[in-house]
Amino acid sequence: MSFESLNLDPAILQALTASGYTEPTPVQARAIPEAIAGHDLMVSAPTGTGKTAVFVLPALQRLAQPSAKPGRGPRMLVLTPTRELALQVTTAVEKYSKFMPRVRTGTVLGGMPYPKQRRLLESPLDILVATPGRLIDFIDQGKVDFSRLELLVLDEADRMLDMGFIKPVERIAGATPAARQTMLFSATLDGGIATLAKRLLKQPKLIEVEATQANHDNIEQRLHYVDDGSHKHRLLDHLLRDVEIDQAIVFTATKRGADRLAGKLSDNGHAAAALHGNMNQSQRNRTLAKVRSGDVRVLVATDVAARGIDVLSITHVINYDLPKVAEDYVHRIGRTGRAGASGIAISFAAPDEAHQLKQIERYTGQQIDRHVVAGMEPKPQSRHGAPGGERKRYGEQGKPRSSNNGNTRWGGGKSYGGNGGRQSRDFGDRSRGRG
Ligand code: ADP
Ligand code: MG
Repeated sequence: MSFESLNLDPAILQALTASGYTEPTPVQARAIPEAIAGHDLMVSAPTGTGKTAVFVLPALQRLAQPSAKPGRGPRMLVLTPTRELALQVTTAVEKYSKFMPRVRTGTVLGGMPYPKQRRLLESPLDILVATPGRLIDFIDQGKVDFSRLELLVLDEADRMLDMGFIKPVERIAGATPAARQTMLFSATLDGGIATLAKRLLKQPKLIEVEATQANHDNIEQRLHYVDDGSHKHRLLDHLLRDVEIDQAIVFTATKRGADRLAGKLSDNGHAAAALHGNMNQSQRNRTLAKVRSGDVRVLVATDVAARGIDVLSITHVINYDLPKVAEDYVHRIGRTGRAGASGIAISFAAPDEAHQLKQIERYTGQQIDRHVVAGMEPKPQSRHGAPGGERKRYGEQGKPRSSNNGNTRWGGGKSYGGNGGRQSRDFGDRSRGRG
């Protein structure tokens, strides 16, 4: 994936090159096309993963075309919880719009004198970056013209919520045209954020990017090639008899698959239950309570249902079906190895999942170790062209991880997130306490 393939204006591409960016970060690659398509977005990704560009680049893309409406008011408004962040965002906007001389950016912040900011609001503007409190003051004085506003961004919305800015944010949003596009960025997308989003966003696209591989050093990953569904089932049954497994989450591709598999496992004597999106909240809570109490040892789940499950006793994640989206693999295996414990992630790959496997290994930049269980070997043709049947490592394809130390896949020699000198290429943010 390149910035060129995002169809950005040449002036934007020029600025990215000048910034030393060689390719979009994962959250940029996923969110920028949706933003350019005009969708509302709810985005969560660890600190330092390049979220600013997720809203600034599509905004600049819009600004490359003249406004359909007359007037001088801002076409984009970014709300941030703090002055520091507002200034950082302004600097980023200036950097990315360096070769678009007609883009006018202004900042309205608390704790600074009013007159200069008042003059700013009276002059023509394209992008306004503001903290909510001060902006409300100006709105109350009738100083802000939102008639041209096309795009509203709430950056670090969770912090705005924590800081008690929810009412001001809602009031400001209410002062902007209803037809606007809205993007919300937050470390979490649940609770108060979900409520806020419901009020301010229209059918938002949900984009969640979790810290990738580097945060999963404590998780041993294994891959078993399988011939078909019945081979998967025999292998799973065998693996689940391992006493080392305290509790496991088994992922299936579909809700029906989860129900069926949980039923079959129960029939075979496993303490299993399903968790999926067709269950109502109280059913889900009941199942999760049983997992927490230990009454359920094997939870069979779909991706959506497993989001945010935080059960510390889960020792094994088993990908009965490989996820369709490579990032979900990282979400899934992150359900084990919580709080510094070690975990094991076992994936099954049938011949029709060869493509997904390739995507996952490309995404994590790592070849998963191949394993076989004696007596349950796959047929040679199920091994996706891998020669030989023994645990084979493909070291020459998987990038040696040490070679990436202290640098990033995205060039520019930047270090992302607070990894404390550990592998920073994966945009991990340990301070978030996940994974
Ligand atoms: P976030 O808002 O997710 O915490 P920022 O937008 O502040 O992250 O970006 C963090 C750092 O990463 C900044 O220094 C920014 O210049 C840099 N950055 C952003 N996108 C890229 C990219 N595609 N390639 C290289 N560096 C990038
Ligand atoms: Mg940010």
